[in-house]
Amino acid sequence: MQTNLADFIRDTEQGQEAEAILRSCVHCGFCNATCPTYQLLGDELDGPRGRIYLMKQMLEGQPVTAVTREHLDRCLTCRNCETTCPSGVQYGRLIDIGRELVERLSPRPTAERLLRAGLRKGLQSPALFGSLLKLGQSVRGLLPSALREHVPTSNVAGGRAVQSDIQDSPDAREATATLTRHMLVLEGCVQPAMAPETNAAARRVLARLGIDLVAAPTAGCCGAIDQHLAAPDAANTAMRRNIDAWWPHIEAGCEAIVMTASGCGSTVKEYGYHLRHDPAYAEKAARVSTLTRDLAEVLRDEDLSVLPAAPPRRIAFHPPCSLQHGQKLRGVIENILTRAGHELLPVDEAHLCCGSAGTYALLQPELSGQLRARKLSNLQARGPELIASANIGCQSHLAAASAVPVVHWISLLDC
Ligand code: SF4
Ligand code: SF4
Repeated sequence: MQTNLADFIRDTEQGQEAEAILRSCVHCGFCNATCPTYQLLGDELDGPRGRIYLMKQMLEGQPVTAVTREHLDRCLTCRNCETTCPSGVQYGRLIDIGRELVERLSPRPTAERLLRAGLRKGLQSPALFGSLLKLGQSVRGLLPSALREHVPTSNVAGGRAVQSDIQDSPDAREATATLTRHMLVLEGCVQPAMAPETNAAARRVLARLGIDLVAAPTAGCCGAIDQHLAAPDAANTAMRRNIDAWWPHIEAGCEAIVMTASGCGSTVKEYGYHLRHDPAYAEKAARVSTLTRDLAEVLRDEDLSVLPAAPPRRIAFHPPCSLQHGQKLRGVIENILTRAGHELLPVDEAHLCCGSAGTYALLQPELSGQLRARKLSNLQARGPELIASANIGCQSHLAAASAVPVVHWISLLDC
């Protein structure tokens, strides 16, 4: 796509990157066919091709209005369009640039800015989020319905209770002492409060494979929340903090940095890109990205026959967008669950987003609700006992309206 950048951005690195991406788009429109918001709204400007065009106009110096912002806000950043695009257009990178620019060129009303700032603060601090969640649970019945559905009555379902964590029992402590391989795990920001049993289950399963999984206490949010809410400087600060937290473990020879939430994995695998111009961190960030593995990538390469046999379950699996489109990991978890003896049911429209998408469910509740209803209808169509997924956002979003339990897939190997 021919582009003539405006003076304000022409000679910047950001402008040159955006221009290269725009030039790779041949405007064919194939991507519209798999875009969830285009499917719901049928408006060209709510599909990837239209949004790319809006961003091109913005970069060329044409007026930017609240309407431009609204169409970009409705994008889930699911990156389904990247998977579909035959020309390899890096839409995810372009929308990051577009979002940052639209905040500058068409500032939001104060109420919207405050809401976004509150979300960034509230969701990224595990202690603050945990306290807010407990408070919300205690007054859940009094909350407006739009807010109530985001407050689960208890932790999101997920297998064995966290109290039985392998690290807590004498047998387990003895077992841990014999583990010869060491990996880091990211605890994340909302997962410790909403589904602490996910990482506990991952520790138990990996311990049986001889792997010790440890968390660095000073690591925190991966930076995705800031990144998706157009606050790249804050996101980069979070990335540097995590690198500092992990670096002593990396120098000590840790084998991998394991992500149990695919949304975090997708972001940490891009630390090298985000910090590529930071002389103090570029090299370390690239190393961190290289070492980062989704939990599924770790288990894919292990001998799972040493695990105790799990009772077979009928499962509908929801692959998060950050797993299948962000990290391009398709079929890996389904294969692991099948190897473990579970029955995986076919699911229609498995490529589509469930509507969770980070803070999207809170900021775009109507579209998010429509996508969830469509996703649950497909997931439940063949009568599963359970729905399994790989990201805390999808898990809690689906669980709020599902007729069957929604679990993290690792709990199905933890018995
Ligand atoms: S992003 Fe890809 S699929 Fe979409 S219009 Fe451009 S070239 Fe075609
Ligand atoms: S990221 Fe998802 S919602 Fe956004 S344009 Fe691409 S397919 Fe559509």
